[in-house]
Amino acid sequence: QLSARLATVGEFVPQNARVADIGSDHAYLPANLALNHRISYGVAGEVVKGPFENAQHEIQKLQLTAILVARLADGLAAIQPADRIDTITIAGMGGPLIRHILAQGSSALTGVQRLVLQPNVGEATVREWLAANQFQITAERILAEDGHTYEVIVADKTTVPVIYSAAEQLFGPFLLGEKSPVFIAKWQRELARAQAAVAQMQQAKVAPTEHLAAANAKIKLIEGVLA
Ligand code: SAM
Repeated sequence: QLSARLATVGEFVPQNARVADIGSDHAYLPANLALNHRISYGVAGEVVKGPFENAQHEIQKLQLTAILVARLADGLAAIQPADRIDTITIAGMGGPLIRHILAQGSSALTGVQRLVLQPNVGEATVREWLAANQFQITAERILAEDGHTYEVIVADKTTVPVIYSAAEQLFGPFLLGEKSPVFIAKWQRELARAQAAVAQMQQAKVAPTEHLAAANAKIKLIEGVLA
């Protein structure tokens, strides 16, 4: 049984995909997809030996070695051309790390049609990378589980330019249109956090002015969305 978070990521993996799950830990996501006949092939990539061994163990235990392979590698280096990967999932890490992994492995992105990303924080930097690399966001989800709020971003390769406004980048183009209760609650918390940060900077009188300006710009965007 997957968490609601990983199940949501899995929902957006196309039927019969050849998927690489980067930072797979126990390989729970690709194993679940394989058991449910949702994918035709999967790579579980891990950069740390312990989680890599967890993935290997899970794949063997579930007798999925014909469909799934675990690889010890940094980011997209887990993907080999012969894998013919068309879908990449990256879940459960910070947005800056997800962006770094995507940016480092651009040759492995050849032939990849879909990215399903679940950054724990820093979603805006992921959306910025997607737009700059011609991946168009085609769906988004926001969900709360175990006291955390998670966003899932689905992006498909496109040949047309992708441009997002500052608000779309921060809030997500689909999430912004939907403004669900989970979304509203998240941005109420973020607003309070940004306001506290500004108050602190003003009190300390040491913050570089661009930090203050950026925080104020963010507050304005959030206030605009919550209005
Ligand atoms: N994807 C699973 C999930 O969402 O439940 C596991 C998330 S776990 C918190 C993050 C995993 O990413 C860790 O097992 C870590 O070793 C792995 N990781 C971090 N940086 C990585 C990289 N550059 N390449 C591959 N795996 C990485």
